[in-house]
Amino acid sequence: MTVLHQVAYTWREKHSGWAFGPRAATLPDRAVLRWTERLGDWLRTDPNGSTGYNHFYGVFRNEAVFVRRIQRHKVRSAKAWLLIGPPTTLTPRLALELREWSWLEGGDGRLLPLGPDVTAAHRRDLQAEARHPEVLERLVALMSRFLSGAGGSIVLPPTELAYPLLWGFQEIVGGFAVDEPSVDRRQLAFETFDDRTRPPFHPGLFVRFRKGAPDLGTDHAHDDIARLLVADFARKIDGAIPMPGVSHPGGGATEPTVPDAAARPASPEAPVPEPAAATRPPGRPAARTTSGAPMPPPTPSRSADAPARGREVICPICLSTLAWNDLPLYRYNPDIGDYTGLDLPADASAPQRAVALRTAFVRCTDPREQGSSHYLPFAYGMHGPPAVFGFVGATRSGKTHLLTAMIGQLEKRGLGLGVRHAALDKARHQAFLNEQVSPFFNRSEVIEQTRAGTVGLVDSFLVSEEGREARPVALFDVAGGDLLEIESARRFLDVADGLIFVVNAAEIGHDELGDRTFGTVLELLQGSGRLPEVSAAVVLNKADLVRFDEPIVRWFRSPDQVLDAEASLRESADVYAYLHSRGADAWTRPYRECRKATLHVVSAAGSDAVVDKTFVRGVTSRRVLNPLLALMAMTGLLTSPEAQKIGV
Ligand SMILES: [Zn+2]
Repeated sequence: MTVLHQVAYTWREKHSGWAFGPRAATLPDRAVLRWTERLGDWLRTDPNGSTGYNHFYGVFRNEAVFVRRIQRHKVRSAKAWLLIGPPTTLTPRLALELREWSWLEGGDGRLLPLGPDVTAAHRRDLQAEARHPEVLERLVALMSRFLSGAGGSIVLPPTELAYPLLWGFQEIVGGFAVDEPSVDRRQLAFETFDDRTRPPFHPGLFVRFRKGAPDLGTDHAHDDIARLLVADFARKIDGAIPMPGVSHPGGGATEPTVPDAAARPASPEAPVPEPAAATRPPGRPAARTTSGAPMPPPTPSRSADAPARGREVICPICLSTLAWNDLPLYRYNPDIGDYTGLDLPADASAPQRAVALRTAFVRCTDPREQGSSHYLPFAYGMHGPPAVFGFVGATRSGKTHLLTAMIGQLEKRGLGLGVRHAALDKARHQAFLNEQVSPFFNRSEVIEQTRAGTVGLVDSFLVSEEGREARPVALFDVAGGDLLEIESARRFLDVADGLIFVVNAAEIGHDELGDRTFGTVLELLQGSGRLPEVSAAVVLNKADLVRFDEPIVRWFRSPDQVLDAEASLRESADVYAYLHSRGADAWTRPYRECRKATLHVVSAAGSDAVVDKTFVRGVTSRRVLNPLLALMAMTGLLTSPEAQKIGV
């Protein structure tokens, strides 16, 4: 029989002074010491701790712990109780249901290990509370926040509703476990009240209610999917406990209907519809089955579960305006290497739908090119405004290597600065890693240059800052030189928000093609009146070739992955002066003419010695993330005060 161990803590005066320590325990002393040390932060031993109570739940290796702490009024009046057990027994749900815990305080102060019969007798069911309209509304914001990033810490202001809110959250998130190989990332940890100036760190999905934290709000990118999940949760009541004030037509409390778009409030501020309000829309089939039927031509279901809001998104490839919610959905089938219609069965559970939508695509048909179509990740249109970045450079600029190194470093090190990113199109991203990043970094291979005549979507990411709406970023490779004659390049410039101009350090001042590439791009932007809207990062690539030149030497070994407005300004000024002194004024034009711009010392490969299509000294990328971070700052994807000062 699995039991939960207990430890009780209190303040005691010893010879050496006051100490907060264990008073009684069901574990051996050594184990108690170990736990006390490990959980010091969560026992909150500050003598002046705030009054009230809080609960912490977390998993440390293979043991779950639940701390209940209470501070009545005076200094050193705090008490804490600790439950320890295997995570399969001491689940977040059990912890939340045991929170009252007053039964531990009685008797002679002796503690006993707790068996399931004891815990069962003291559980307080939160089903009904968790379905209170106010809780459901907050649950939408919490789910939305959760969906916008892959786990991590979620901070929100303290609320009386913390327990039912966490309970509902756990019930919904628990259903996601199947689609994630790393289950521990989904292992919920929580703290119901925190007012420490320096909160301790806890890895994984950690929801904490922190004094002074801003509200999550409801205007989030994932509200639509979050609403679906919460409405689904609200409808499913196991044990048939009726929700207060809500009648269930026909008694069918668990009928897996999909809330109709029309039944959902149009405004993100409006509350979640009560379950009874969600009715099956007329004309929608009760269930859809594809088994046994011959494979139809792609006539996918309308994105019935897509948001109701009339979202219009401009396709970054062909500039068509797409009514995102009305588009048929597709999925990529790796077996046949093609896209097929995505059929969401009407009886799919909310988590199943959410998972399907996360990997879904929409198809865009270029009206100007007969029969030409392309696919975009559905998620691209489901977040904040997308940012479109292009890489501009002549054929020998090392642009392809820079792009490869950037995505490789992004994969390896992330963006840093508390900014998260996730690939939007996992298959495309993985293919890029396999075909370019891995040969470049692992085998030091020279990567083939961009094919002539192409403007290609290379990769796309969802970038999110803590507490802000996530935004998609699409990275395009714009082929160099005279290729700008082609229509697709011109069109691309009508939608680009940021450009990375790649200068080959070896060609400074005598690369006419490079000069022309930059000039053409700037003239096209000027012609369309977009020059004041586009930011630029000018990259002096292959800087290893000039790394002993003043002032390049100063920057070549400076750190990457930093956002420092003052350093950025100095670096920009130095590179500008360097290019100017070498008669390479064409390269500095973006700096003079674009909305905001920075200049950077970069080396994608670290050396230029190539024999037999291999970098013989290996590949060591230098400072490839800084231009990307700077561009993200200049285009408003990064919003910190420092980020706002980047670019002149
Ligand atoms: Zn398109």
